[in-house]
Amino acid sequence: MAETRSTCPYCGVGCGVIIESEGEQITGVRGDPAHPANFGKLCSKGSTLHLTATPLVLQTRRLLQPMLREGRGAQPQAIAWERANEIAAERLLAIRAQHGPDAIGFYISGQLLTEDYHAFNKLARAVIGTNNIDSNSRLCMSSAVVGYKQTLGADAPPACYEDLDHADCVFITGANPAWAHPILFRRLEAAKAARPAMKIIVVDPRRTESAEFADLHLQILPGTDVALCQGLLHAMIWDGWVDAAYIAAHTQGFEALKALVRGMTPREAARICGIEEKDLLQAAEWFARSPASLSLYCQGLNQSSSGTAKNTALINLHLATGQIGRPGAGPLSLTGQPNAMGGRESGGMATLLPGHRDPGSAEHRDEIARLWGCDALPTAPGKTAVELFEAAARGEIKALWIVCTNPAQSLPEQALVRRALEACEFVVLQEAFADTATAAYADLLLPAASWGEKEGTVTNSERRISRVRAAVPPPGSARADWRIVRDIAQRLEARLRPGRPGLFDIDSAEQLWLEHRAATVGRDLDIGGLSYALLDMKGPQQWPYPAGGAPRARLYENGLFATPNGRARFIAKPYQAPLDKLDARHPLSLTTGRLRDQWHGMSRSGTVARLFGHEGAPALSLHPADLPRRGLVEGDLARIRSAHGELVLTVRADAGVAPAQAYLPMHWGSEFIGGFGINALTQRGFCPDSKQPELKFAAIDVQRL
Ligand code: SF4
Repeated sequence: MAETRSTCPYCGVGCGVIIESEGEQITGVRGDPAHPANFGKLCSKGSTLHLTATPLVLQTRRLLQPMLREGRGAQPQAIAWERANEIAAERLLAIRAQHGPDAIGFYISGQLLTEDYHAFNKLARAVIGTNNIDSNSRLCMSSAVVGYKQTLGADAPPACYEDLDHADCVFITGANPAWAHPILFRRLEAAKAARPAMKIIVVDPRRTESAEFADLHLQILPGTDVALCQGLLHAMIWDGWVDAAYIAAHTQGFEALKALVRGMTPREAARICGIEEKDLLQAAEWFARSPASLSLYCQGLNQSSSGTAKNTALINLHLATGQIGRPGAGPLSLTGQPNAMGGRESGGMATLLPGHRDPGSAEHRDEIARLWGCDALPTAPGKTAVELFEAAARGEIKALWIVCTNPAQSLPEQALVRRALEACEFVVLQEAFADTATAAYADLLLPAASWGEKEGTVTNSERRISRVRAAVPPPGSARADWRIVRDIAQRLEARLRPGRPGLFDIDSAEQLWLEHRAATVGRDLDIGGLSYALLDMKGPQQWPYPAGGAPRARLYENGLFATPNGRARFIAKPYQAPLDKLDARHPLSLTTGRLRDQWHGMSRSGTVARLFGHEGAPALSLHPADLPRRGLVEGDLARIRSAHGELVLTVRADAGVAPAQAYLPMHWGSEFIGGFGINALTQRGFCPDSKQPELKFAAIDVQRL
């Protein structure tokens, strides 16, 4: 039996795993005791990873060879790689020649490794000549990115996991880590057991398992997070709990924020949020007066039309109280995907360039063009996730290259997404799994290697870069994502850059990583001192890790922020309610979220029978009193309608769901529900700053069938 150290491909905790294999078959997995994210522990998903790579799964669920669909609706036929690459290059070149480079769009994934991200970014921007490259991380962390940049000056989570061992107050908001980030939650449980005086506050419209564990649960109305944070800040200011010396020495913009929150008294905030004023005051006191307060937050803040306002409102609290840059103190966004962070670092999104650069800056574009060896990068702003599909539906985007993600399930307003995919002239899907909802729309399917089969790196929520390693070769003729990119890019370069030095003369993932590393040098995320060899020798490392320098567990300990004048910025954004309005036709607030044992659209976790033991099928959860009001009993089928679509589903009573609210897990798609899945109900409206859509809220009605 062989053993290979690698990283779990599910959530952003980024646990280390040891893969056991016999020959070309993965046979087992266990936690890596040496990995500082998990110290050997794994949750239900991580500990069953080997069951996603059984011979049966490989034969029945994986995409094993390139497939071509001669016409829409036709059965895809197997073709050789050579022909697949030729077809991809010819079709893309033809569309580019006729409609220009911006008629091509790339929709990639936070599941990709940093090296893959880098390859796609270079292909889109340096070879095709478009900024139309965005990632499903747009649905995940883009509000956190903009929140950090607006307040602290850089997209850099300042705290780390070890801060759980030092925090006296942990403020968890818009997150259910007991289910969505289980190994980190185990660390919180251990910290609480060791120091019972630690206060845990959970803000969530539902009484989740995380809320059950808390000392204080603020069960706010969905979408009222900004009002809550402003009410907390009001209490902190007028009760004298802010850190005036820290504000004076290290921040700017406090007076404007103070003026904004003057009217958001604790009583008013409690009224808007639907909570007791005394609970709000208690939370304000614990947060502000504890020696060290740490925030953990995730999609409840991000997936919102006010996502950036929610993120900045939370970071405002840390700045106002000086709860940042010390052991146990600071905001720590929990990334949803395994490598959403690596995607941000490598600039694999329409609004980013490598090394935390800005595509709107001529200086930044020139720096990257020099590093890559191309003349110039495109200047036209790229389209973000929802905008890409809106443009495709309008006929402006003619070709979409979709990688390791399933937009025909996961994007909001599914009716529009399906129209967009149908309207495209050419859809390429690069995937490990053969049967995702998006596969039905693909003209060309390219089989990709998956977990346990590929080499590279990922970065977890605490800025820690871990190696991902291959234990076995990919099945069938599947290939590493970067290699698929390279082979098509070389064909495109031969036509678009004849006689020029090749941008894709690349033979290994490490070569791509070294190019990525070069783009970080001198930037806030400088990893000039890191190498594959050092990661192999010393294990996972946090950035920044400059040449000759030392890694830093937490940022801003010296009170100097990444803004031009070194001062953090308070951001004053008013509270705004969610886009969908409750009315007589749609009287219930729907929130969405994760189950403990499933992952995203279940293409991987859905291959493991035992993971359905926790929840076997989707159901809409309602408060027990809301069932009889609608003539429903548990198990009834009900029609669920929003202004954006409808679906039919069984209902269940759940006392953890507040009256007049509803909850639906995010994982099931059309194949289970007989329609578009959960995102039939959600809308494409997004935060104006981060362009992250409001996947977490819809106004709905529920009627018995
Ligand atoms: Fe994998 Fe996340 Fe579970 Fe760790 S906590 S084993 S990274 S799913």
